[in-house]
Amino acid sequence: CGIVGYVGDRPALSIVLDGLRRLEYRGYDSAGVAIVGDGTLHTEKKAGKLANLEKALAEGAASGITTGTTGIGHTRWATHGGPTDRNAHPHVSQDGRVAVIHNGIIENFARLRAELEALGVEFSSETDTEVAAHLLSIALTEVNSEGQAGPHALAEAMRRVSRRLEGAFTLLAVDTAIPGAVVGARRNSPLVVGRGEGENYLASDVSAFIEHTREAVELGQDQVVLITPEGIEITGFDGTAVEGKPFHIDWDASA
Ligand code: GLU
Repeated sequence: CGIVGYVGDRPALSIVLDGLRRLEYRGYDSAGVAIVGDGTLHTEKKAGKLANLEKALAEGAASGITTGTTGIGHTRWATHGGPTDRNAHPHVSQDGRVAVIHNGIIENFARLRAELEALGVEFSSETDTEVAAHLLSIALTEVNSEGQAGPHALAEAMRRVSRRLEGAFTLLAVDTAIPGAVVGARRNSPLVVGRGEGENYLASDVSAFIEHTREAVELGQDQVVLITPEGIEITGFDGTAVEGKPFHIDWDASA
């Protein structure tokens, strides 16, 4: 239901949680975050209000989750699988490498799930989303073995996954092996970029980052966006470079 991503030089967790709070008005049944810090992927997710997530974070807090400067956060409105802790996003690949959050519905998830299960992948939720996490880690391994590494490998893996998904989706993902990068994909579901100074944002709605920047970039349908602290790169699902449409947010943030 709500999506936020951040990469920069400030601790991501508080920025992501603030963003989720600003998206709360849309309604949700669960919330979760994934932060890359100290070379580790830290995730926390809880059914219920953001307060439940914040309580779990306060109790569990490993230092990397409060200091990591790359992160994503999600509020869920369940469509596939009940509103439980396990079904809350992020969903993590079996190898623990990538975390994925998703708004929308992946219509062909049942077929993809059967295909992954035949390869020996074990699922830990009933969501349509989890297929994207496993597919992304498989695609990354493939892209890495072809000699691509770093943030561009993450974007290429996301393009390969996006081409296989049907339905409506906004996806964000982080990779433990690639700190300083968040990748997003969009098909029939909202996603905007916020441009900062040495930091960048992704969100389902500009209100999530408007207190940090009013410079935004609009994405089109069937596009993948890679944000790093220094840059924003947009391509079609086929890899063609795309110029995003910059715009200035001039309405009152408190309205
Ligand atoms: N279809 C996904 C799920 O049920 C995402 C729902 C949403 O947009 O929050 O987990």
